[in-house]
Amino acid sequence: MMNNEKNKKNNESEVNFGFKGNILICGKIVCDTGLHIGDSNDSLEIGGIDNMVIRDKESDLPYIPGSSLKGKLRFLLELNDQDSTKYILTEYETFKKKGANACQCGECVSCHIFGFTNSDDAKFKGPTRIIVRDALPDDDTKSFWKNSDDISRGTELKVENRIDRIEGTAKDPRPTERVPRTSKFDLNIVFSIYCDEDKDNFKHIFRAFELLEDSYLGGNGSRGYGQVHFEELSIYEKPKSYYTGEKSKNHERLFNCNFECSDDEKHCKIGKYNIEIKNEFEPKFKS
Ligand SMILES: [Zn+2]
Repeated sequence: MMNNEKNKKNNESEVNFGFKGNILICGKIVCDTGLHIGDSNDSLEIGGIDNMVIRDKESDLPYIPGSSLKGKLRFLLELNDQDSTKYILTEYETFKKKGANACQCGECVSCHIFGFTNSDDAKFKGPTRIIVRDALPDDDTKSFWKNSDDISRGTELKVENRIDRIEGTAKDPRPTERVPRTSKFDLNIVFSIYCDEDKDNFKHIFRAFELLEDSYLGGNGSRGYGQVHFEELSIYEKPKSYYTGEKSKNHERLFNCNFECSDDEKHCKIGKYNIEIKNEFEPKFKS
């Protein structure tokens, strides 16, 4: 493409580019099996447990770091996407040199949602669209932990063994700390809309949720740990006017969405998720 044509095209897309609003996804992450998200400062005390879970410094209770959840969602979306898989495979050596651990192609859905650094020629631009907050245990979970004799500071101990292949006996018992099943954590994700493409990209978050439910969170997943599912999902929309205080004057529709909506326009279906729309302003998710 000639340079001035390219510039013209860029200018056209820049006209529509700008912060249009935030979409908040709230809900619960429910542990279907024991969850182990390790602390990098594993305890080295003599006689201590060497597989500690990460804890919130304030409450001393386990939590799900936003970085762990975000990293896993991105990883699963990348693996599920031909563009990013191809990029990672062909650029593997460059990847290793850069110390990158995520796709940086700048074209695939994951790069659009989760960001990338290699932005010189990329058509897609702007900041990372998603913020995944740390997920803290909800109040019911905290009282469940407090009132169970087998649970101490939010975790149970699971002993893992190695099987001696010749003798057929269990060896080297090693206690692992894990969050017990049925524990629930508060999910909080902010997705920012800057351009038309973001409207479509937003839906991929729910695809990532479904992929995660058939995968695992944290460590020891192939041995049954970390099975989770999402519950009580709600979407709140805060258009730009919400932040500028113009919301009463300007109810400009943020975007058209292709979600299947039920008659009451308050429930939308994305994949298996039936999502309740809680919009203080007006329902904007109707197609
Ligand atoms: Zn990419």
